[in-house]
Amino acid sequence: MARLLIRIYGDPILRRRTTPVIEVDDEIQTLAADMVETMQEADGIGLAANQVGELCRLITINFDIDGGEEGATALVNPRIVEREGEQVSMEGCLSIPEVWEEVDRHDRIVVEYLDLDGQEQKKELAGLHSAVVQHEIDHLEGILFVDHIPAVRRMMLRGTLKQMTRSVRQTA
Ligand code: ZN
Repeated sequence: MARLLIRIYGDPILRRRTTPVIEVDDEIQTLAADMVETMQEADGIGLAANQVGELCRLITINFDIDGGEEGATALVNPRIVEREGEQVSMEGCLSIPEVWEEVDRHDRIVVEYLDLDGQEQKKELAGLHSAVVQHEIDHLEGILFVDHIPAVRRMMLRGTLKQMTRSVRQTA
């Protein structure tokens, strides 16, 4: 397994839409394992493929959505097929370090995806788990959580975000 470079706000790949995974092969399984390691090393609860420079529809989350056990889950081609209710949760993002903001999300969702064996799965999630999956699926569309916050809050963050963009350009 390898630790991957997490792309930071200002990197254009975070604004790109990702494409569906055609086949869950070795390459996808390796990428998923590397993403899990990268996410856990960074103390994150979720990661999307374009955050590590890959434009495919793959996310990892730092909890086992099958039940109480500790562990990470990889979701290939995840899509939300039902959404209901509302919640407000404090969100951060490994690509936008040290920024935390309240975001409105649906409370309950049903997500369909392929697991790493290529099997169709369907899960109902609520609360934090649901918010994390919505946040990660947004990434796959090039959407970041700061896009969801009120304009006045975004104005206040403008300097911080500009600074991140500038350092990305300098290291690119
Ligand atoms: Zn994020």
